[in-house]
Amino acid sequence: MARRLAASRLIVASHNAGKVREIEALLGPLGIETVGAAALGLAEPEETGETFVANAALKARAAALASGEPALADDSGLVVPALDGAPGIYSARWAGPGKDFRVAMDRIERELAARGVAIGGTAAYFVCALSLGWPDGQCETVEGRADGTLTWPPRGPHGFGYDPIFVPAGHARTFGEMPPEEKQPLTHRARAFERLVASCLAPPP
Ligand code: IMP
Repeated sequence: MARRLAASRLIVASHNAGKVREIEALLGPLGIETVGAAALGLAEPEETGETFVANAALKARAAALASGEPALADDSGLVVPALDGAPGIYSARWAGPGKDFRVAMDRIERELAARGVAIGGTAAYFVCALSLGWPDGQCETVEGRADGTLTWPPRGPHGFGYDPIFVPAGHARTFGEMPPEEKQPLTHRARAFERLVASCLAPPP
């Protein structure tokens, strides 16, 4: 059985403001206060894992050990099966040192075109691994996924990362065209979060 969180405060082991905001919005209603890793001056560990789960676990463990408090980490990214799963765990790195996601989205379009695949309508999905780590090194990790298709050109002022080219299944607009309250329940992060609540955050039945 998964270990349950006893504390009412969690360190969010991410320096990505978009992710920290979404995680805060998910934890707030459970009465769990969040503190971002950047606010505590925690260093970002190198993501040396080969899977979303491995990277989430290493980030959660590092933040919990450094802060002495339970920490929640997210590792997420966009998987394009027609690109053999790229950018996948390298989703952030495709944006380059300037973290410019226009560069990353252009690369997806270019690499698909090089394979003779038109980006519009190409299947893709976001994955989110959420890992809750304790200062004693224990970790509980869950995954969630959001399926959809890609579109071109990028559309919408909201969200972050690859949101402007991702149309969630059953919808016509991109994540980038959806305000946060509309995007949130459809996300890979929300789905992973539901699993984390059930296993580690909700009071036992
Ligand atoms: P990491 O988990 O910090 O390695 O970064 C994952 C990257 O995946 C982010 O920087 C985003 O570019 C992308 N990503 C993850 N979740 C989303 C999302 O909900 N919308 C758009 N892009 C996302």
